[in-house]
This record gives sequence, structure tokens and C-alpha cells, in this order.
Amino acid sequence: MSAVIPSKCWLNTVLLSDKFGRPITDLRISITDRCNYKCIYCRTGNEGALYGDLPFADYLRMARLLVGLGIRKVRITGGEPLLRKGVVDFVGELAKLRNSDGELLDIAITTNGHLLAEMAQPLKDAGLRRVTVSMDAVDPDRFARITRVSNGFDNVLAGIRASRRVGLWPVKVNCVLMRGFNEDQIIPFGMFAREEGVIVRFIEFMPLEEDRVWAPETVVTLDEILLRISEYRPLVEIPHERSETARRYRFDDGIGEIGIIAPVSHPFCGHCSRIRITSDGKIRTCLFSVWDHDLHELMRRGASDGELIEFIRGVVARKEERHHIGEPDFVPASRTMVHIGG
Ligand code: SAM
Repeated sequence: MSAVIPSKCWLNTVLLSDKFGRPITDLRISITDRCNYKCIYCRTGNEGALYGDLPFADYLRMARLLVGLGIRKVRITGGEPLLRKGVVDFVGELAKLRNSDGELLDIAITTNGHLLAEMAQPLKDAGLRRVTVSMDAVDPDRFARITRVSNGFDNVLAGIRASRRVGLWPVKVNCVLMRGFNEDQIIPFGMFAREEGVIVRFIEFMPLEEDRVWAPETVVTLDEILLRISEYRPLVEIPHERSETARRYRFDDGIGEIGIIAPVSHPFCGHCSRIRITSDGKIRTCLFSVWDHDLHELMRRGASDGELIEFIRGVVARKEERHHIGEPDFVPASRTMVHIGG
């Protein structure tokens, strides 16, 4: 096996990578584990926030250190990140940071879109580049059944349109497919991508939900999605970056893009470049980690930047090689998606 040579940046800092030589360039920060939706593939109807959140200054210190170590993209997530007062100012502070090449960061948010219509412009003005909105049906009644919220559909649609209007680009729409609930929405979503000028991304359902209803049969796979949507119009694959989670396709007439994120049927762990910080300040190196690493506790005890960096490097080096979904030795993650930050 050849030795892994660590990359360095212009300041001669050794950039973050794990023991398999994967560079870590993508950070997701959850700023709350509260959510105002109860999507059936994610939350139960009952459980609320379990872990709470931190002052923005603490996330910012973590982000600053990680950006100095090679992070180039920061995605703010939750729970529902737009529930948190101060999120716009937080984006503004992140937008002042420079990556290890001295460039501005690529800052994105994943949101259910419920509060987005009014926040799109302030977020854009603060330095947000792009947005991903979760929307699992284009039919309002189905949307209400999946989210277990009766008045959400119009808000989410307005949020998507406002994002386009203010110039957040690209606007991506994430749709988790769950057999028996919304696989009949695949073709309508293809039409939606073309009509609304957004990138619709279908996501395979993963065993990260609070209700523990996942089974292999509940997953609508990449092959099945492709087959269904091709009945509507032929697709042409677009080349994608190795570390990109989605396979990308354009319709044959050039109008409309869709993506498929297939962690179950076509895992992409070999090119994973992500780490996560949970709302309570723990580092997670994989969605399916069975433990997390308490960066915030170290900060609380007064650790210096140098000590935090040493801790981060040690944790990242031990990033899991891959997930084991569907295998006999699969152990459920120690947290569900809403408490990790997707
Ligand atoms: N509240 C925000 C939202 O709705 O986008 C951000 C948090 S949510 C946990 C982040 C993403 O995770 C969403 O796109 C959601 O659809 C996805 N997600 C949640 N549970 C999932 C599961 N069990 N399998 C696949 N994706 C899931």
C-alpha cells in the first residue's frame, strides 16, 4: 500500500484527512435539533429536541478552526435551522471566513422551507450562496400526510420560489422516497424540476428515523427511480465530482436537472469528504457513527485552539471507512437524523 501524503495549504498547515487519505472539506453544522415538521421518515410525532443547542459564537469558533484545516463548504442544518433566531447573522459571520486558499466559503442551508419565503433575501444578503429545500410530494395532500403538518405546502413552495427570485443558486429540492408513500411522485417531480427551474434530488430512505420502520423493501432504489422517470422523458447523465453525493441527470432536451442520492444501493463512502457538528457541539465522522466526540466539552473546559485542533485531527483520522446498511453486522447509529443534522 502506498503511503498517504498529507496535503498542505498556502499557510503550510497540514489539511484534514482521515487514515484512508480522504480529504475532509465539507462541514455540516446543526444549529438546533428542534423541528416544526414531523416527516414520517425522520421524526416521530412525539419526540422534540433531545440535545439542545449552543451559542452561535461556539459554532463559529469550531467553524473557524475547521476552515483553517481545509473545510471549504459549510452547510447549516438541523432540526430546522430557520427556527433559530440569529441564523442570518451567523451566516454573515461565516461569510467573513476564508478557506485555506484564501477564498470565501461555499455556504449553504438545508431547510424544510416553511419559513424561507421571508428569510431568503436576508440570508442571501448575509452571504448564503445556495439552499436545499426538503419537499417530499408535489401533491399538497400527500405533502401533509408525509410531514404531518396541514398548512405547510404553500409556504414551502413560496420559499422555493423566493429563493430563485433572490438569486440563491442552485435551488435544490430534496425528496426522500419511501415505498408506499410517495414513489408515485417521481414523475410529477420531474415535471416540477422543469417548470420551477430547480434541481430535484431523490434520496434513498436510510435507517436513521425515530420510528424504526426502515426495511430494505421500503427503499426506492436508484435503478427504480431512473426507470420510472425515463418513462416520462429520457435522461442524460451529467459528469459529477467524485465527492458529490448525487448522481446527476439532465432531460434529453436540456430542460431540467434531477439528481439521485443512493447511499443504500450505490454507497459513496469511498469519496466521503464530510464531517458534522451536532447542535450540542459533538463531532460526528459518519451519519452512521455509533459514538460522537465532544468538542464542546473541551471548549467549555477552556482548551486552547491548538488543543482543539489536535483533538479534531485525532477524531477525523479515525473516520469510519463506510456504513454497513443492509449488512448482517449493521448497528444503528447512536442518533437519528434530526438529532445529527442531515
Ligand atoms: N429540517 C431541515 C430539512 O427538512 O431539510 C434540515 C434537517 S433534515 C434532517 C436534512 C435532510 O435529511 C432532509 O433533506 C431530509 O429529507 C433528510 N432525511 C431525514 N431523514 C432521512 C432518512 N431517514 N433517510 C434519508 N434522508 C433523510
